[in-house]
Formats: sequence, C-alpha cells, structure tokens
Amino acid sequence: MSAPQPTHGTLTDSDSNRYLAVTHEVVNQPPALENYNLYEQDVALQEAVQREGAEKAKNDLKAFGALAGDSATIDLGFRANNNKPVFNTHDRFGHRIDEVDFHPSYHELMGIAFENGLHSSPWANPGKGAHVTRAAKYYMHSQVEAAHCCPVTMTFAAIPSIRRQPDLAALWESRVLANSYDARNLPDDKKSSVTIGMAMTEKQGGSDVRANSTLAYPVGDKGPGQAYELVGHKWFVSAPMCDAFLVLAQAPAGLSCFLMPRWRPDGTKNPWQIQRLKNKMGNVANASSEVELRGALAWMIGEEGRGVPTIIEMVAMTRFDCMIGSSAGMRQAVAQATHHCRHRSAFGSRLSDQPLMQNVLADLALENEAALAYTMRLARALDNQSDEHERLLARLATPVGKYWICKRTPNHAYEAMECIGGSGVMEDCIMPRLFRESPVNAIWEGSGNVQCLDTLRAIQKEPETLDAFFREAGEAKGADRRFDQFLAQLQNDFSDISNFQYRARNLVDRMALVMQASLLLRNGNNAVADAFCASRLESSGGMNYGNLPSGTDAAAIIKRATPVVG
Ligand SMILES: Cc1cc2nc3c(=O)[nH]c(=O)nc-3n(C[C@H](O)[C@H](O)[C@H](O)COP(=O)(O)OP(=O)(O)OC[C@H]3O[C@@H](n4cnc5c(N)ncnc54)[C@H](O)[C@@H]3O)c2cc1C
Repeated sequence: MSAPQPTHGTLTDSDSNRYLAVTHEVVNQPPALENYNLYEQDVALQEAVQREGAEKAKNDLKAFGALAGDSATIDLGFRANNNKPVFNTHDRFGHRIDEVDFHPSYHELMGIAFENGLHSSPWANPGKGAHVTRAAKYYMHSQVEAAHCCPVTMTFAAIPSIRRQPDLAALWESRVLANSYDARNLPDDKKSSVTIGMAMTEKQGGSDVRANSTLAYPVGDKGPGQAYELVGHKWFVSAPMCDAFLVLAQAPAGLSCFLMPRWRPDGTKNPWQIQRLKNKMGNVANASSEVELRGALAWMIGEEGRGVPTIIEMVAMTRFDCMIGSSAGMRQAVAQATHHCRHRSAFGSRLSDQPLMQNVLADLALENEAALAYTMRLARALDNQSDEHERLLARLATPVGKYWICKRTPNHAYEAMECIGGSGVMEDCIMPRLFRESPVNAIWEGSGNVQCLDTLRAIQKEPETLDAFFREAGEAKGADRRFDQFLAQLQNDFSDISNFQYRARNLVDRMALVMQASLLLRNGNNAVADAFCASRLESSGGMNYGNLPSGTDAAAIIKRATPVVG
C-alpha cells in the first residue's frame, strides 16, 4: 500500500467555495487503537497464561481484555491524567481535612481494578494459576492507565505483612480483600472495603531505611499488636487517601513496622498531615505526598525491631508488580508502534513492510516478550511457594527481574514513540504518558543498584537461591549453542567473588538475560527464541533497538505482536 499522491485540477468559480471549505482529505493515518481485546490480540500473553497454569481463567481474561480495550476505558486513562489530583488542606470552615480530590475517571479505574480483584484474588482464592491470572489482568489494566495501579498494588502487597500480626489481620483482612471500591473519605470502620499504602522513605534516607528518624512511643503495653504514637515525617507517601498505611518507625528496640489508619477508633482524624503533593514528571493521576506524623496512632505489626523483615514481604510483592507494570508498558508501546506502522506508509510502502523498521519493531516486540515470559514465570513461582525450588527461585528472580525489566523500559518507550514519528510525541497519543511513566518503576520500591545489592545479599545469605536460579535456567541446556556458552560463562564468573559489588550490574544483567533466553527457548516459538539468543547473547556491537542480525524472522515476530482492530 502506498500513500495516495496529490492531484492537481483547475479551480472553477463554482467549485471554489467547496474547495476552500475542504482543504484536504485525511489519508495515511492509522485508525485509533481502541475497541480491541487486549487478551485476544496478545498471542504472547495467551501462551503465557496457558503455560504457567491459568488456562481455566481464559474466559474471564477474555472478558477483561475486552473491557480494557474499550474506548470508554481508554478514555478514562486520558482523563485521569489530564486532571491531576488536587490537595485541600482545610475545608471552607477552617478545619484541617488533608483531602486529595481525584477526577471521577481515577475513581472509575480504581473501581474496575478492585471489582476485578486486582488487589486480592491470589490471597482470597489461592491455588494453581491464581497469581498468574491476576498478573495477566494487571498486565492488561496497567496498559490503560498505570498510575492508579500504585494503590492497587500496595493494597495487594500489604496482605502478607499484615498477616504477620493475626489480631490486626482479623480486623483488616476481610475489608482489604473485599472486591469493591469505596472512595469515601470516612473512618475505615464505616467502610466495607479499604485501601492500604506504605510509608517508609524519609528525607535523610530512602534506600537506607535504617536512617529513619520517625519515632514510635508506646501508648500502653509495648510489642506486637500494641498501640504506639508516631512522631516524625515521610518524604514520599503515594496514594495518601489510602485508609491505612504500613509505616516504618523507630521503636525503643529498633526500626519496626506499624499499621497506621487515617482515622482513630473514636472517629477523629489521626494526626497525620499532608504537607504538599509531589510535582511528578510521570505517574500524575496518582497523588504522591510529603507528610508529617504528629502523634499518629498506629499498631505494631510483627516483632519490635524487625520492621524491615516485616515490611519486606510487602516490598517483594510491590517489586513483582513493578515487573508486571513495566512489562505492560512495553506491551502497550509495542501495540501502538506495530499498529501505527501497519497502517502508515512512507516512501512507497507500509512502514511495517520495510526492512529497517521491521528490525526495530521486532526488536521492541522481543524485549516485551522476554519481559512477559520472565514475569509470568515468576507469577507461577508465587503460586507454588510451598515448593522449595519455587521459593528459592522467587527470592532471587524478584530483584533480578525488577532491576532488569524496569530498567529496560524507558528506552523501549522512547523507541516505540519514534516509530510513530511526530504524532507519537503529542499528548493525545498515549506514548508521552508511557514514556513519563517508564522510569518510575525502576526508581521506587528499591532503585537499580539496590536491586543488584539485594541479589547479592540473597546469594550470600542463602546460596541455594543461585543453585535454584541456574537449575531453572539450565532447563534449556542443549537447545541453543549460544545459550549454553552464555550460561557456562556466567556460572563461571560467579566462582570469583572478588569485587562482587562493583561487578553486580554486569552479573545481574546477564542473570536476567540467561533466564529470559531459557524461558523463550523452552516456550517454543523459534523465531522469538532465535532472535533473542542472536541479539542478546552474542554481541554484534550495536547498542540500540534495531540490531537484530540478518536471518531473523522479523515478520513472524511482528505478526505475533500486532493487534488487529475492527
Ligand atoms: C513517584 C514516587 C512515589 C513514591 N512513593 C513512595 C511511597 O508511597 N512510599 C515510600 O515509602 N516511598 C515512596 N517513594 C520513594 C522511593 O521508594 C525512593 O525514592 C527510592 O526507594 C529511592 O530512595 P531515595 O529517593 O532516598 O534515593 P537514595 O536512597 O538516596 O538513592 C539514590 C541512588 O543511590 C543508589 N544507592 C543507594 N544505596 C546504594 C549503595 N549502597 N550502593 C550503590 N548505590 C546505592 C540508589 O539505587 C539510587 O539510585 C516514591 C518515589 C517516587 C519517585
């Protein structure tokens, strides 16, 4: 298909009005990518769901895919971002209210997420495929709008930590897991469902929470489940209208984890004051804030002085969701780029038929497939935590995957934007939003270096995690010569522990690549697996997307990735 050429005629008097009103015909522009099914139009996702044990959720996922691709749902995402949350300190009578006002479309998106169990399903109905099904839904929903997924994730992730304190879990769990969304700013005991946030980071120490200065004073008895008053500040608190937060504060015996509701049991406002909202470059539909705690009442979760091991259970889950979210950002970018290039011609033929563009598109699709395969394999590991191999694998695959997948996303988003050309930079296209969102997952919930250090910590504390990781990767041994060599070299490099920290990024990069290659080789799509091994395991010197070697079946990879609308 080539772009129609302009034709010249003679402008007569009788024609002039008509021609002046109709200046040109709009041609060579793609149809909007909407009213399509995000599940049915995603071959890699369907394969992953089947492979990782969630086949029985197929119909549910199809229905959810249709909802996520509906133009009305897509519109909610744009509106939630075009209308940033507004912070009101006081009501008109001068009472301190600390209320953040969100656009109705934000609440609608939250409603969709909570009614579909994105915050609850694997805890409420654990078992085969539970995490995989939820991950697939989250993957689709996050493509529509990623920012509101932050409180969805935090609510989901809080459950393992809250369960460490059974008396508090008895009070909160059923309302956390309720599949409904109650946006009202009311004391939590008046609500049938609640949302949970987290407050760890302070000005003087983010990654290093040991530097936290917020103090916890016992109100009466001390210890797990007891009430404390918290005094201090938090430098980053996202979704500050959550009904309660898991907070780290220094108790007499050390840094401890607390559950802090926004209201006291007597129905008065807990003295937790929002100072201001962060002025963020991305993730703008979600509010993030700075707060001061002025004697806020909170209850200790887990042992005093063991705050980090308690909250780390929540953090492990938020890190997993960062992987889903970044994989989803890549998927939406690939869908936009392949869709555009399928409908856009330049220099006489469709962009998606031109070899150089094919190389770029296939490379972007490959990155997304690898990210998805890794994420969904980890989802299956989470579904099988009573199996020792799966437990060890999840421990190590979480920081490796969080680091790698989130870090690969910003350049991926930019490159997909470039496939669309100038229109890809415009705010009525989703690409600027995907681009601005893309670094956030890499930075919060433990930035890149922190993930690499956590990988080393896991290996040093529990060397069996590395055995499990290599055992899992080694499942593909013999399938590809390049893979076998890469794996052997990496295993060899782990025998030298000198300068471990300095070399951590290189080691973790290669761990991620070897696991992705192993999964793709075993997943059975030869075009995808061959291109991945050729471009990621054997260096040809090129650093940018579009460096797939000759002989790659780019057309097959693109075809799998291209959504068909209408
Ligand atoms: C949009 C947004 C929302 C957020 N929401 C929340 C929230 O709701 N709750 C919350 O608690 N926090 C939240 N955060 C905070 C976030 O988790 C922190 O910003 C993050 O953990 C990094 O901490 P920091 O900013 O203090 O950076 P620092 O800890 O100062 O780190 C700076 C850099 O140094 C690196 N680094 C740190 N230690 C080492 C080391 N030993 N060796 C090598 N490199 C190292 C880090 O990887 C990072 O790249 C949010 C952040 C953002 C951007």
